[in-house]
Amino acid sequence: MLQPATVGSARTFGHRRAEVWCNDCHHHAEVSMDGLPDDLPIPDISLRYRCSKCGSKNLMSRGSIDEHYELIEQRSGKAIGNGSKHRS
Ligand SMILES: [Zn+2]
Repeated sequence: MLQPATVGSARTFGHRRAEVWCNDCHHHAEVSMDGLPDDLPIPDISLRYRCSKCGSKNLMSRGSIDEHYELIEQRSGKAIGNGSKHRS
């Protein structure tokens, strides 16, 4: 799975932000997922917003890619740390 399907699943992956694009003027913004319902599909986050630049509601949303890579870096750092101390 590349992208979490809902706000709830995104949260379980540690995501707290989503990216929203305007299809009309290509304005791009990151929005917080705090306060959004767990069962809200990620693509539907865009339905709750309006472009702050041109006022369009023709928006698109997905999980934050920047945050995705931040989380991978954090996890790989943690995994290396845990691995060196791992005893079983
Ligand atoms: Zn726009």
